[in-house]
Amino acid sequence: MKLKEIGDGIYMVDVVPLGYENLISCYILDFEKKAVVETGPKSSIQSVFSALREIGIKSLDYIFVSHIHLDHAGGAGTLAKEFGGKIVAHRKGAKHIINPKRLWKASVEFSRINELYGKPDSVGDRHVVMVDEDVTFNLGEVELKAFKTEGHAPHHLSFFLENERILFSGDSAGMCIDGSVIPTTPSPFNLDEWAESVERMIGLEAELIAYTHFGIYGAGDLLERVLNMAKRWAEIASESRTVEEFSERVKREDQELRRFADYYSHCDVMVKWIDYGFEGMFEFLARRGMR
Ligand SMILES: [Zn+2]
Repeated sequence: MKLKEIGDGIYMVDVVPLGYENLISCYILDFEKKAVVETGPKSSIQSVFSALREIGIKSLDYIFVSHIHLDHAGGAGTLAKEFGGKIVAHRKGAKHIINPKRLWKASVEFSRINELYGKPDSVGDRHVVMVDEDVTFNLGEVELKAFKTEGHAPHHLSFFLENERILFSGDSAGMCIDGSVIPTTPSPFNLDEWAESVERMIGLEAELIAYTHFGIYGAGDLLERVLNMAKRWAEIASESRTVEEFSERVKREDQELRRFADYYSHCDVMVKWIDYGFEGMFEFLARRGMR
């Protein structure tokens, strides 16, 4: 576990899932109310426990999760049991936090990696706050807005710390490392909804983007760049006969993807995630009859 203070009362934790550094970050908000944004998978939840104890937080008020994928919320139930706190999730995903049995089965079928993340613990429904529309949570000195950013998943939320202008984007703004950003588009990806979500996030004029994969960056033109990349990838996919042809062409043409993939060439999990993204984009266009 690596803990870093990134602002007054705001911390980033590298939870080091499956022994990989710089892959999944979660964030801790230590104000009058205490919160965690993203938990990482269950298998690395002890990292979050250690970080909270190091900061001196004994109990939580909220656990905000962007979506139910195991690398983002797999540890939420276990964390709520140990530290308390309401789990805040999109209405469409909340039932899988309460009872993760079906999610677990589907996740393991989708990818064997998911098995390594550990089976999430269930929680009573009184521990879950379902988000339907924008809702702002008062954490004392600051406010955190939860809002829908569907597309990566049909039940995706992002969070905006209004005072500090920090956007916690989950997977809705792609993945970023060392300033190289790529879209993350696994099946059932929806490009139209996703692009709308990115436009919405551009409208927030965030100063910083706190990615789950991985770390925090000055917003600059990261959102515009990832939007243009995804649109270009969709063009390439629509001209390709197979997903292999599509991914080969993107790897040839897209320097930013190459930089990103080079950074993670040692990391099997990320290599697979990138491939799942190509498949998801390709399938989206096939569903739309666009290829
Ligand atoms: Zn993810």
